[in-house]
Amino acid sequence: MSIFSKLFSRSQPRPTSSVVQEELAARIQEELVTQVPEELVAQDSASADIVAGSLGLDFDPSRVTQDVRDDLRRNIREIEEFKKVDDLQFEHAYSAALLSISRGGDLKVLYDALKAMDVPGMGIRSADIARTLNNQSMALIRQQENLKNGIKFARWFYLGVPCFRNRQHPSADDISMNEAHQAADGKKYKIAKGLLLQGHYTTPGRIEGCLCTFNIDVEDIGL
Ligand SMILES: [Zn+2]
Repeated sequence: MSIFSKLFSRSQPRPTSSVVQEELAARIQEELVTQVPEELVAQDSASADIVAGSLGLDFDPSRVTQDVRDDLRRNIREIEEFKKVDDLQFEHAYSAALLSISRGGDLKVLYDALKAMDVPGMGIRSADIARTLNNQSMALIRQQENLKNGIKFARWFYLGVPCFRNRQHPSADDISMNEAHQAADGKKYKIAKGLLLQGHYTTPGRIEGCLCTFNIDVEDIGL
């Protein structure tokens, strides 16, 4: 079953409000984001260009608030490959990531920038890192917007694609994380607090390598 089919076929309340429809649209966009790197890794540049070019047409860059920018800097610093880069390399990566996110998930621009960096191990990790940084920012944007709209609860949504930090060589920790995220599918949590997984409160898409997202059920709106 394709992930798109899964999105539409799950036994959940039908989208009856604009908020829920917006969530559905956001999930589809996120799914597009998660689909691009495989195409990039396969070096199918023609199809990657098409997908990348179709992203973010309706994305308002003002959604990338100062909070999101500050968070992006922290997220980059937490990635192993960036622990030893100099300031110039860091700013180069940050600028590319900000552009990528401001376009609503243009992974190709970030993937290309990362791959061209003179940083050990970055080449093979570029797709993973581009996807992670986009997912983390999109997750934060949606969380903050939901909270601002008075929506306090969400349900964890495991897309069916493994949550691994390193897709080429998943570690034992990656496998444990993926199992925890798969088990979290459908669980309700407070958006402001997150769900307790592996000893830490977290929300979907926020941990490096996590491709999970969330649903807002009609019954949870305004609770
Ligand atoms: Zn996950």
